[in-house]
Amino acid sequence: MKYEILKKYFGYDSFRQGQENMIDSILSGRDVLGIMPTGAGKSLCYQIPALMLEGITLVISPLISLMKDQVQALNQAGVHAAFINSSLTETQIAKALQYAAAGRYKIIYVAPERLETESFLQFAQAVDIAMVTVDEAHCISQWGQDFRPSYLKIVRFINLLPRRPVISAFTATATVAVREDILCVLGLIEPQVSVTGFDRENLFFGVEKPKKKDDYLLQYLSNHEGESGIIYCATRKNVDALYDLLLENGLPVTRYHAGLSGAERKKNQDDFIYDNAPVVVATNAFGMGIDKSNVRFVLHYNMPQSLENYYQEAGRAGRDGEAAECILLYSPQDVVICRFLAENKENLQDLENEIEDIRDRDEERLKAMTYYCIGTGCMREAILKYFGEKGSGSCGKCSNCLSEFEDVDVTENARKIIQCVVDCRQRYGVNVIVGTACGNYSAKLREYGVSRLPSYGSLEEMSEAKVKQIINHLLVENILYLTNDKYTLVKVSPSAREVLQGDLKVIMKLPKQSQDQEIRPKTGAKKYRKSDILTSAGLELFDKLRELRSIVAREEAMPPYIIFSDKSLVDMCVKLPGSRQEMLAVSGVGEYKYEKYGQRFLERIKECTASRNGKYYFGERNEAIMAAAGPGTSENNHQRVKARLPKEDFTITDKFNIQT
Ligand code: ADP
Ligand code: MG
Repeated sequence: MKYEILKKYFGYDSFRQGQENMIDSILSGRDVLGIMPTGAGKSLCYQIPALMLEGITLVISPLISLMKDQVQALNQAGVHAAFINSSLTETQIAKALQYAAAGRYKIIYVAPERLETESFLQFAQAVDIAMVTVDEAHCISQWGQDFRPSYLKIVRFINLLPRRPVISAFTATATVAVREDILCVLGLIEPQVSVTGFDRENLFFGVEKPKKKDDYLLQYLSNHEGESGIIYCATRKNVDALYDLLLENGLPVTRYHAGLSGAERKKNQDDFIYDNAPVVVATNAFGMGIDKSNVRFVLHYNMPQSLENYYQEAGRAGRDGEAAECILLYSPQDVVICRFLAENKENLQDLENEIEDIRDRDEERLKAMTYYCIGTGCMREAILKYFGEKGSGSCGKCSNCLSEFEDVDVTENARKIIQCVVDCRQRYGVNVIVGTACGNYSAKLREYGVSRLPSYGSLEEMSEAKVKQIINHLLVENILYLTNDKYTLVKVSPSAREVLQGDLKVIMKLPKQSQDQEIRPKTGAKKYRKSDILTSAGLELFDKLRELRSIVAREEAMPPYIIFSDKSLVDMCVKLPGSRQEMLAVSGVGEYKYEKYGQRFLERIKECTASRNGKYYFGERNEAIMAAAGPGTSENNHQRVKARLPKEDFTITDKFNIQT
């Protein structure tokens, strides 16, 4: 049953770590506390049982935007759900309660304040409440960063119900103090507590210490054009200044902080969510209500006040499981700002007695955060350790693992890179150079024909990140340079010749063990970017599907990612579904969504692929597969052809099966 619901409504084939355990416990009538990192999939843990339990589930959620997002997503999946909060008029609330009492909704989202109102209490006492779910449960703890006094009233409300419902609570905050507060304050009875791994494998962590943060940012954004991202600043003033700067540079940005009017905040947040402005500059006031799944980077312009804050904010990247980057721009001045903000914290007045403790704790947190920034060990390990978990010692893919500081002569490798740029006739950007030097198998590279160059694979024993690092060094040393026009191309400076001729040595700070023991990303950990998976024909198709998604989103007045995630669209380009059944095999396409939109997407795919002319849409080996398979849609052909290809070929095509 739960599997059917997972597939039918949400369009997924399997549960993620921790989900099934929470669902089963709830269904057996047991209270649960689920501690899972942002993006892990907490919502399904209570939404699926809510659909299976007799009676209504109340979900207590701290923010209007969060409720709205969840209810939209549920309705899109074909689940009847509603929210009741201050964004509705009294009449609308009365109507919603009336519908709810008539059994129209299985799931109702409310803000904690609502529980105290007489009309709501009356409603709750008259209907059968099967479960009360407390989402973002850390709000109940004054040790959490988002303490909400009204969360303390939840228990009183539950005690007033005629029958005690199952109580489930979920949060991404893992510290022991917060966990204990949740257990005690909510009065959970013998709860099943599940703490899933806090590691988010698809996130890259980095700390940068650029002399000019603004320059770094502009460069970064130009390298990530078209991607959605969040840039966090410590203060409103920073936000405004940075926002102006980015606007002046013609970037599609918006901003968010508590100093803006409610109307402007709402508009800007919508612009971000609906991808009208894919990049937002914001203070930490932004984000708790944001479940946008396609955020590809979270940059911190300033260091936040604690690792809890940092991990939560950074964790908003890559909810869809695709690769994403979290980069913190550190400067010593940030510590001063943080201390100032901590000392001027509001809402501490009524906590007279605890004030000393709170200040000590803030100072401890700040220290841990600072060590994260200036430390030289594995950053992922540092985060996991802070949250009481053990990592593997070194992840091999954070900025520290990729740089442990020792003067190393890299002249030989630099020469190969320069030669590669020359072989490529100075016509490509950094990524193509890296891919060529590393001898990568990617559809795009094969299209460019770089695999025939003598430099192809000249550094194949080295990781991409390392090669990139050397390129960055060569850029800083002005041995290579980037052009400023539309396509940022890598070119060689006069001093490059000196390197090639052996007249100039290249020395840089590098990881100590890196000379003989290259750190490579662990297998399985690597996620593939859309541009690695799809050929340019595939990317074109993706754009066409994205266009259609925008049209549908506008018609429905929904954010595009709620119609279909980026991941679903990529999966469509890979599977090229030609029938209902094939469409239902696409990740994130459930029956209800299929009924609403499936046909239109099928048609668009058919239209776009009708004149295939030998075009292939993903993967380098697929040229051969398509040729062998002849015309027709791909999925069945893949199956057929797979059976005919020698074994080794699977491993390569298999990586294109996007894991969900
Ligand atoms: P959290 O509340 O833990 O931050 P969400 O519940 O918002 O995370 O889920 C994050 C994303 O993961 C959503 O896009 C959701 O659809 C997706 N997701 C959840 N469970 C699964 C699953 N079993 N398979 C694939 N995707 C999932
Ligand atoms: Mg959530």
